[in-house]
Amino acid sequence: MQLARRLNNLPPYLFVDINRKIAEKQARGEDIISFSIGDPDLPTPCHIIDHMCQAAHNPTNHRYPETDGLPELRQAIAEWYEKRFGVILNPGKEVLPLIGSKEGIGHMALCFIEPGDIALVPDPSYPVYSMSTMIAGGEPHFMPLKEENDFLPDFEAIPEKIANKAKLMWLNYPNNPTGAIADLDFFENAIHFARQHNLAVCHDTPYTEVAFEGYKPPSFMQVPGAKEVGVEFHSLSKTYHMTGWRIGMVVGNSQMIDALFRVKSNLDSGIPQAIQQAAIEALRGSQDCVAEHNAILQRRRDKLIPVLNEIGLKARIPRATFYIWAKVPQGYTSIDFAEKLLDEAGIAVTPGIGYGKEGEGYIRFSLTLADERLEEGIKRLSAWHRRNK
Ligand SMILES: *Cc1c(COP(=O)(O)O)cnc(C)c1O
Repeated sequence: MQLARRLNNLPPYLFVDINRKIAEKQARGEDIISFSIGDPDLPTPCHIIDHMCQAAHNPTNHRYPETDGLPELRQAIAEWYEKRFGVILNPGKEVLPLIGSKEGIGHMALCFIEPGDIALVPDPSYPVYSMSTMIAGGEPHFMPLKEENDFLPDFEAIPEKIANKAKLMWLNYPNNPTGAIADLDFFENAIHFARQHNLAVCHDTPYTEVAFEGYKPPSFMQVPGAKEVGVEFHSLSKTYHMTGWRIGMVVGNSQMIDALFRVKSNLDSGIPQAIQQAAIEALRGSQDCVAEHNAILQRRRDKLIPVLNEIGLKARIPRATFYIWAKVPQGYTSIDFAEKLLDEAGIAVTPGIGYGKEGEGYIRFSLTLADERLEEGIKRLSAWHRRNK
């Protein structure tokens, strides 16, 4: 048999060696503390699960769902956007539920990218933006996110020819992996740039509700004109600890949403309805769980940051997301340093190079591990540092 070229063109998976090493250590019974998993450790709140269980008993939910989701879910998403961001959406045309936002992000490339086409993709970034571009036969053009620019792309630095040829631009704030945030002025500039170059904008924003000290990250959709040029991907995964249930949404430009619906309706048959019912409950029910989760994450953040700085990893304090993006000491690559922490301290982190060339020199710590494990991890880091002094 012969596999399609589009698969051979995908870059190799960089973490093969380090992941094998972790698996070998664990198989030998070594206790590895993992700061590398970007997945909330706490369970989905009870009221959401109860709702899902009831819905699972209802036979109308046992049949094929519709690709565009329950009208009531689209309505609940529109209401949530209005309540949270003051953004008015037409639930029939400007809202589409997804099987997790990753699914919609991946399929959006099929709506815009033809062989040889360009998508503007941040570097470092969540890998799906560039991978889906390549699977569709296109090429990512990377926009470096530099610490001196607060991890925002510099639109001026994109060559005119590339900008004019590009079809899509990906953005993601609050940002994974850097923890950086963007304000409405930045989004305004992005819209201006998109208009100038006839680009469609996709803003991926699953972390607007994971934020600290009262900070409320804005939506791209709040800026006038956003709906003319783009869409926003959001998700219930990080907000309500629902990663395992697979449910998210895309909102905004109706033409882009209709294109994505046309692709999806030929590939999938929607989201299991009991899960859609759970999502309605999550969006409309008590939001207390969000503040509770953030208080826990903030406490973990504030425990970890001082230790990282003490051991020579320069880390900014994130105002949103559950990630800490830390600069490794001079003389190490991100993979070298991650291996050193694994071998000498029994700690797993994600090497920054996995998110792109500009991620070199950084490692990512995720705060999604139980408090006792975090405490133990901090102890190991301090002890390791004392041994190395
Ligand atoms: C977690 C994450 C997603 C995917 O979320 P799902 O809705 O669970 O698919 C998308 N983008 C970024 C940046 C993420 O960190």
